[in-house]
Amino acid sequence: HRAPTIDESALSRLVVLAGPTAVGKGTVSTFIRENHPEVCLSVSATTRAPRPGEVDGVSYYFLDDAEFDRMIADGEFLEWAVVHNKSRYGTPRPPIDRALAEGKSVLLEIDIQGARQVKEAMPEATLVFLLPPSWDELVRRLIGRGTESAEEQERRLSTARVELAAQSEFDHRVVNSDVEAAAREVVELMRIQKAIDLHG
Ligand code: 5GP
Repeated sequence: HRAPTIDESALSRLVVLAGPTAVGKGTVSTFIRENHPEVCLSVSATTRAPRPGEVDGVSYYFLDDAEFDRMIADGEFLEWAVVHNKSRYGTPRPPIDRALAEGKSVLLEIDIQGARQVKEAMPEATLVFLLPPSWDELVRRLIGRGTESAEEQERRLSTARVELAAQSEFDHRVVNSDVEAAAREVVELMRIQKAIDLHG
């Protein structure tokens, strides 16, 4: 599947934040949502079940397989992928078109396969790779959050090893040692991108 194309002038204000499992993408993007209301954070659709505390329409749009199939068929996804060999995740396109048309900056927090699809469809999108301070720290974070079974942790770590090798495909790399500092760096990249967009 290929993502559809979009108005060229809006592209550079679209920033994709990707990185391996447990690197803290969710924490960084939540920090940005709470502290930088000028950034529009895309809400993804997924076929996985909600975790305790997750709210439909805020964390994700939780869909069943038939609803997800319908959105694919109707061309409503900018990108979608099967993540960790399990559930499907996708970025609904209409809210992004609207936000870009209104001149807003848009942040997508998606996996690496999704980031590649966005770059292919929109070469001017900015791809940011979030890195852990070290491999050991990544393992500590994944085990420490305790949201996955041992089997699922193994699966995610083997994916992470492959994903870390993709960092050279990205426009920028940000190390997540401190959530606030990493978030500030991402927002700063968005500001610079917007200034380049406006003034060349
Ligand atoms: P989780 O199930 O832990 O919320 O997310 C698992 C993975 O799915 C994360 O790596 C996250 O970045 C990725 N993901 C979330 N939304 C999307 C999306 O819309 N598209 C793609 N390709 N990946 C996504």
